[in-house]
Amino acid sequence: MEDGSKQAEVRSWLAAAVRQRAGLCVLTGAGMSAESGIPTFRDALTGYWAQFDPMALASEPGFRTHPQRVWDWYAERRAGVRAAEPHAGHRALADFARRHPGVLTLVTQNVDDLHQRAGNVDTLRLHGDILDDLWLDPCARQVRGGKVCDPAWAEAGCPPACRECGNLVRPGVVWFGEHLPLRALDAAQRAAGQCALMLVVGTSGAVWPAAGLAGQARAAGAKVVVLNPAPSELDGTAHLVLRGTAACTLPALLA
Ligand code: NAD
Repeated sequence: MEDGSKQAEVRSWLAAAVRQRAGLCVLTGAGMSAESGIPTFRDALTGYWAQFDPMALASEPGFRTHPQRVWDWYAERRAGVRAAEPHAGHRALADFARRHPGVLTLVTQNVDDLHQRAGNVDTLRLHGDILDDLWLDPCARQVRGGKVCDPAWAEAGCPPACRECGNLVRPGVVWFGEHLPLRALDAAQRAAGQCALMLVVGTSGAVWPAAGLAGQARAAGAKVVVLNPAPSELDGTAHLVLRGTAACTLPALLA
């Protein structure tokens, strides 16, 4: 099928989805932010995992072993996120949500805040928020029943640490081996099970349970469309694959 007729087909599914509450579920991955200048994880030349060992930089044992190295890596990524701007694809999703209230559930694996800054403030964030600070361990003061100890009070450092017990501050992302935030995951699974159309944008489909949402939507009777410039592990789950980028294709699709 030609690209033009594929897009026309997706637009007809979209028109059907718009008539239904929560009819459209969009799942985004790192590729969604690539055109804003934030590197993906798995792209062969530009992805982070082409240069770094994921377990050393994105796991709790990795942080405990080399806290400063991991903190510095996240500090650099945080600076990249703060400097980045939402692109036309982010804006098209926010615009769609404004025009069709109650239709779109936006689920992201991204830890940046570009969907939120574009206007999708209720995006379900499956992998946390890179700009958020958390304690690595329960703080000693709280364990004793004392007042909540806020990471913002930590003594400056790389990473910052609690003055009283030495507890370290860590970024608020979900690392390898950690659980996803239950409420966001539950809401995402509900949306996948209810929608008429699931659009999967810029994800390799290699990270679970997020990758399972597409199969869940298809099993429940939804049309599934993958938008990605390269093959992904979810192509086989999709009724239709669009080869394109988020910034170029989403505005045309959602207009
Ligand atoms: P991934 O790196 O595994 O895959 C990225 C995918 O995006 C690839 O399939 C690639 O072909 C595609 N892609 C590249 N450029 C694109 C473009 N312009 N438009 C559309 N698609 C494009 O990323 P993933 O599947 O999201 O992996 C999951 C993990 O990556 C998540 O845990 C997420 O937290 C993390 N991550 C997030 C960010 C971010 O917040 N921006 C950045 C890197 C990684």
